[in-house]
Amino acid sequence: MPTVSDTLRNELRALLGPENVIESGDSLETLSKDFYWYSPVLKRQLDDKRAELVARPGTIEQARQTIAACFKAGVPIVPRGAGTGNYGQCVPLYGGVVIDLARLDRIHSVEGGVVRAEAGARLGTIETVARLAGWELRCMPSTWVKSSLGGFFCGGSGGIGSITWGGINANDNVKSVTVMTCEAEPKLIRLEERDSLKALHTYGTTGFMVEIEMRLAPKLDYDQLAFSASDWDALLAWTDAAARNSAWPKRLVTQFQWPTPSYFKPLAKYFKSGEHVTFLLVERAITEAVVAHAAAAGIACVYRQPLSDPPKPPFLTDYTWNHTTLWAMKSDPTITYLQAGFGANFAEQFKELHRRFPGEILFHLEWVAGNPKMMRGSAEGGVVPAGNIVVGGIPLLFFKSEERLNEILAACAELGVGIANPHTFYLEEGGRHPNIADKRAFKTEVDPRGLLNPGKMKSYPHNPFDPAAERAAAAALAAAV
Ligand SMILES: Cc1cc2nc3c(=O)[nH]c(=O)nc-3n(C[C@H](O)[C@H](O)[C@H](O)COP(=O)(O)OP(=O)(O)OC[C@H]3O[C@@H](n4cnc5c(N)ncnc54)[C@H](O)[C@@H]3O)c2cc1C
Repeated sequence: MPTVSDTLRNELRALLGPENVIESGDSLETLSKDFYWYSPVLKRQLDDKRAELVARPGTIEQARQTIAACFKAGVPIVPRGAGTGNYGQCVPLYGGVVIDLARLDRIHSVEGGVVRAEAGARLGTIETVARLAGWELRCMPSTWVKSSLGGFFCGGSGGIGSITWGGINANDNVKSVTVMTCEAEPKLIRLEERDSLKALHTYGTTGFMVEIEMRLAPKLDYDQLAFSASDWDALLAWTDAAARNSAWPKRLVTQFQWPTPSYFKPLAKYFKSGEHVTFLLVERAITEAVVAHAAAAGIACVYRQPLSDPPKPPFLTDYTWNHTTLWAMKSDPTITYLQAGFGANFAEQFKELHRRFPGEILFHLEWVAGNPKMMRGSAEGGVVPAGNIVVGGIPLLFFKSEERLNEILAACAELGVGIANPHTFYLEEGGRHPNIADKRAFKTEVDPRGLLNPGKMKSYPHNPFDPAAERAAAAALAAAV
């Protein structure tokens, strides 16, 4: 049922200019979607969902007036960055208005190892600007060229750099976020340091991030290296030791099980059929030592390319983290994925999963500095103890059915493999949120009418666009009184 009235359309056209109000066509479709189609489950659930209108404010004041107009009209409102999320995070479930923040992209300052920028600023631009000033992002997703700072905070978890700095919730990587509330008169709330965790990874349900301060790392010059070996266990042992070697400054440690490397078409000529592959980004000064160390273990360096500064392709990162899944799906559309955190017994966990599901799982591993309790959004987000390296990853699955997928998820749970389920659009099911009560409480404060990305925070009792959910919430409340 349409929610957006002609009055609201006219109001937004007058406020933003008709060119910044998208009401039909391919652009409306594109700006209503993200990479939800990675999951056959989400594809079935979300294919027909779209916004009725996309508004593109160019200033924080315009964003404020846009939110105020949408609040007055009582429509569903979904914030959007670059739309590279992959769980339908910015796909509206009930139509309404998508507010695209891509034009709020000013980088205010890079000072004292902190970048302060508007939420729509692209991470790729921030990385370039930071490097010119002698810094680099501490962690960024493999979509860093395109994705936005606000989208990373509200929808991401970590990526390149996390081997040293942990995820976005760790090591005080976020200094502050400034949130605009969804009220008759939207106001700004600044959350500092770990207080910002109550708005982290909440899919735009807890207000609009309009400005973010992120801590940076001193910049390093990197070489992009690939190693290959036919013996999975030997390569795993070497890669794991490389990941844990704190004397090797690095930004990426990734291992792929064959035939995954064959999916990387532009790089396929570097890889031998049947050989598993490891990617490293290491400080250039140690490249020779790393290559020699690998050779001594019988592991060949098959690709070596400096990372240019300022950054210019080729980027090995374009094949890592969730880009691996993209390349795999291009080669074989039956492939889908999981997001996993393995235990200290990771080698046994891999063996057991292969034994139970032969030919159905390909391992793609990413090493990060962290602690299994510090999954995204964790109230325990904090300083990673030195040398605490964990094995995570985004294993590929040959999808057979939703039932089979659920069997694999159940096996992972039984074996102690932590899963951030990418086949659900509910934020509570997509990752561990031990501080969900804080998030719900914050949502009550910033979104009193429950208009922000309704339906995504499953445990939030108020969804004015789902009468059944409203009735259930009212009944639960009555029962509790
Ligand atoms: C190929 C591929 C690789 C990926 N690799 C990684 C990876 O390595 N690490 C990782 O963490 N993620 C990864 N992702 C997921 C995604 O790219 C990142 O999380 C990215 O940072 C999202 O940024 P975005 O600007 O595209 O956000 P969007 O997709 O636009 O938004 C993400 C969520 O945040 C909300 N949102 C966006 N901006 C705001 C704002 N200003 N205020 C409030 N809410 C907002 C949206 O409503 C949505 O719920 C990958 C995805 C793909 C498709």
